[in-house]
Amino acid sequence: MKKIIILLLMISSLLWGAKVTQLKWKSGEKFSSYLQTKNISLSLLKSLDELEQQVVGEIQGGQTFYEIRDDKGTLVRVLIPISSTMQIKLSKDAKLDQYRFSIVPINFKETTYFGSVNISKDLWRDISNQIHNDKLILQIKKALRNNLPKLQNGDNISFVYAQKTLVGYLYGSPNVYIIKITQGTKEQFIYVDDEGIGHKEPYETVSYMTDGPGTIFRSSSRSSVSSSGIFSMPIRNPRITSPFSFGRYHPVLHIYRPHFGVDFGAKRGTPIMSIGNGIVTDAGWLGGYGKAIKIQHSGGYVSIYGHLSGFRISAGDNVRAGDIIGYSGNTGTSTGPHLHLGIYLNNSPINPMTVLEKGTSVVDTIIDTVTEAIGNERVAETKKIPIYNAIKYRDMLESDINNKTPSYDWDKYESQRADAQLDENLQ
Ligand SMILES: [Zn+2]
Repeated sequence: MKKIIILLLMISSLLWGAKVTQLKWKSGEKFSSYLQTKNISLSLLKSLDELEQQVVGEIQGGQTFYEIRDDKGTLVRVLIPISSTMQIKLSKDAKLDQYRFSIVPINFKETTYFGSVNISKDLWRDISNQIHNDKLILQIKKALRNNLPKLQNGDNISFVYAQKTLVGYLYGSPNVYIIKITQGTKEQFIYVDDEGIGHKEPYETVSYMTDGPGTIFRSSSRSSVSSSGIFSMPIRNPRITSPFSFGRYHPVLHIYRPHFGVDFGAKRGTPIMSIGNGIVTDAGWLGGYGKAIKIQHSGGYVSIYGHLSGFRISAGDNVRAGDIIGYSGNTGTSTGPHLHLGIYLNNSPINPMTVLEKGTSVVDTIIDTVTEAIGNERVAETKKIPIYNAIKYRDMLESDINNKTPSYDWDKYESQRADAQLDENLQ
């Protein structure tokens, strides 16, 4: 035990008494100007390779990031999440008095919490006052959208959810797993699927496996399925030269190399087409992507086309799927002519091949059965929604209720932030 304590002290000694500040990336701020405001030498930028340059060009305005200062107030770490799993880490090397750049996995802590709220006035205000986690309320609202009975004083709502934290701050939206509504002797469980949608418990439509996930079938219309986004290829005869990666680990260099897009081989001047209908939000120089085009599509999708040699559209133009928007080239940090295509959903990079026509179709992956009502113009489809660990979470919820476990209050967490100094992300 003594050894462990000594080791911990050694690891964290640099950051003993470290103070973490949560900030938002300024809209339009370049990574280089951020370094300048922190008096970090711009030679750091020159040391970055092609993929790293692209990644720093992708930091979005409004992105939450973290600055960590030691007890003397010196900036010793900067952590900037760049996807749901990876982050940029700037760390000060005390001996060399300079900063090092790396891309590393985000070490979230994700823990399961319990909440139980007796309704006194208003459901949402009661939850807010007792749990102090606003994003949780949004998730519960979503889960109860079609399942909320009329509540009155004395009713109870209990739930189990998971919340991620990062260096002592809440991170992202919680995942609600299960909700129980109690009204007198009447009890109702709401099981929540991966998309955050709640399902009541009409037992005949719920099938449980003894040691696997519980599975619920729900119906959805065809239109709501196709809005998941199917795009067409940006180039004729596509040939992938470098696939998408959230952060592949390089076994020799021991570094992570995320590639937030797909590279298609294309000789200079090859026509590049819009992957879908949308509006051009940018057509100009975009950091490591050189001459690049950004198109906003419906449903929260954005596509980026990088390393172009020329444009055929300008910002503000409306485009349709298949319109020629520019020509491939070798601008920006690029080692040869190719097209870089990035696709983002709600500002997070996704693998383009999962939504491109010739990739794995979204429809194939989520639709298990399609029932066409013959003679009926409306087409009914059944989506098979697995609710993983439904039984496990129901048991957890019941046991917390029986043990009268107190609700977790996030006010407490906020005040215990000093513990953040032992967080792995700070090492
Ligand atoms: Zn690329």
